[in-house]
Amino acid sequence: MDPIIRIEDLVFQYKKEDTADVELAVDQVTLHFAPGSFNAIIGRNGSGKSTLAKNINGLLIPTEGVVYVKGWNTADPDKIWEIRQSAGMVFQNPDNQLVSSIVEDDVAFGPENLGVEPGEIRKRVDESLYAVNMYEERKKAPHLLSGGQKQRIAIAGVVAMRPECIIFDEPTAMLDPHGRQEVMDIIKKLHREGITIVLITHFMEEAAMAERVIIMDKGKVMLDGSPRQVFPKVEEIRSMNLDVPFAVDLADRLRRRGIPVPPEIINDEEMVDFLCQYKSKI
Ligand code: ADP
Ligand code: MG
Repeated sequence: MDPIIRIEDLVFQYKKEDTADVELAVDQVTLHFAPGSFNAIIGRNGSGKSTLAKNINGLLIPTEGVVYVKGWNTADPDKIWEIRQSAGMVFQNPDNQLVSSIVEDDVAFGPENLGVEPGEIRKRVDESLYAVNMYEERKKAPHLLSGGQKQRIAIAGVVAMRPECIIFDEPTAMLDPHGRQEVMDIIKKLHREGITIVLITHFMEEAAMAERVIIMDKGKVMLDGSPRQVFPKVEEIRSMNLDVPFAVDLADRLRRRGIPVPPEIINDEEMVDFLCQYKSKI
């Protein structure tokens, strides 16, 4: 199948204010995302993740290279609405994404801007609120909700535009563990329903849930593969000042003590299974 998103030789430079200097934020990145895939992007602060994300839905336009969403070039001003509708974005701070004083009005905001007719908006708002488990809260004021609930409303607002792809830029960074879990559950559900997911996160356990993990450093893609291919490269990942998932770290330490933990172990559940089997053999 054709990729839904094609990033070809993307270079993005920010111009520094009042100087001729530029900041190279994304450096020669080529990435293709398959329809329906679940992709995670990790990398330390300043590695270019947000800049890459904003280039996908036309919030930023490439300095060099091309980005296509469903075949539409993001640099084509005539296609910007189609692109923003197809590739929705959810940001880190839910407070900056909510605009109305009532939850359901907030969710209606996106489809209203797309010119969707009122009956259809009503239907989409209800569907989207159900999708994020927030239908019961539809008449409430967003500022009275928890961080996790607010973020789910922001996600409902994007879902109501019926995007084929959603880019999440550190959607759980400001949430407590409970809120993080709620938001991750919704992201996994949207993936099961066929939406292409690009999840930028600094939580390794979240990245390990994806089908593909991309690690960025200094604007470049350094590693790209399934979590089982990427996470065992512990030395390389640590050299980029990143952690590995807890189970991967534990596996690494056990191997140094001579316990033959297989490389494919990347989550706690698999580690527990391995240790139980190992114990029964000794
Ligand atoms: P990340 O999301 O991985 O933390 P960013 O994409 O935000 O990385 O930033 C990549 C680089 O671009 C950093 O060096 C950052 O300082 C720089 N940068 C980001 N936004 C701007 C901006 N608006 N103006 C100038 N430089 C920026
Ligand atoms: Mg960022």
